[in-house]
Amino acid sequence: MELINVKGFVLKEQTYKENDKIVWILCENIGKISVLAKNAKKSTNSSFVVTQPFSLVQLNLKKGKSFHYIFDGTLIKNLDFIGCRDSIFYLTYFFELLDIAFSEKDIIDRNFFKFLLNIFLMFEVPEINKNLIMRIFELRILREVGCNFEFEYCYYCSNRVKGSVSYFDFSLQNVVCVSCRKLKEFKVENRIINIMRFLGTVNVSSILKIKVSDEDMDFIFKINKVLLEQNLVKMPNSIKFLGGY
Ligand SMILES: [Zn+2]
Repeated sequence: MELINVKGFVLKEQTYKENDKIVWILCENIGKISVLAKNAKKSTNSSFVVTQPFSLVQLNLKKGKSFHYIFDGTLIKNLDFIGCRDSIFYLTYFFELLDIAFSEKDIIDRNFFKFLLNIFLMFEVPEINKNLIMRIFELRILREVGCNFEFEYCYYCSNRVKGSVSYFDFSLQNVVCVSCRKLKEFKVENRIINIMRFLGTVNVSSILKIKVSDEDMDFIFKINKVLLEQNLVKMPNSIKFLGGY
């Protein structure tokens, strides 16, 4: 019997029969898989601890016709929320967005998985600005699902946008400079454009050094929401807990 060893995040669960459940796991390399975990609803069962949503696990799996099955596994990390209850809203959003963004055939490469791991671990840092982490996460998700937003060069003349304001064309997902603007674009201060460009490439480990005002963060959230709506099959329900709608 061949076992597949995977490391992944438990995205969500669904009850199956009385004591079993199906869990969807986003794994490094092989992507999103569904696992039928027998007796995992019983707290005494060994699968119970490795099938809790929002945790990071390592599993040995057997591949069946419709599902993977757990041979054995270990819990790598499960976040502790004592003292920071709002984290659960952000974490719910994080996992729901991942679940929507990826289907069972998508490959999750090593770099992206590492990025997710870093974001996940940041939830436990008390002084972290969670809105900031989510904006960085959204921009990265957009890239992963193939959205080629461009915040630097004007769509029409290819010049770098400069001055105090630019425009953003959502249908082109591209900035447009003042001279090339066609009236249909969304006006946005270049200060915001610069922050978004920076957040799109920033290393997660330097998040603690970044300061963005709440007002700017709200504005960036508005832009990200439109881009997510354009690029995802549906929007996460949990966005409403974050003031999304
Ligand atoms: Zn231009």
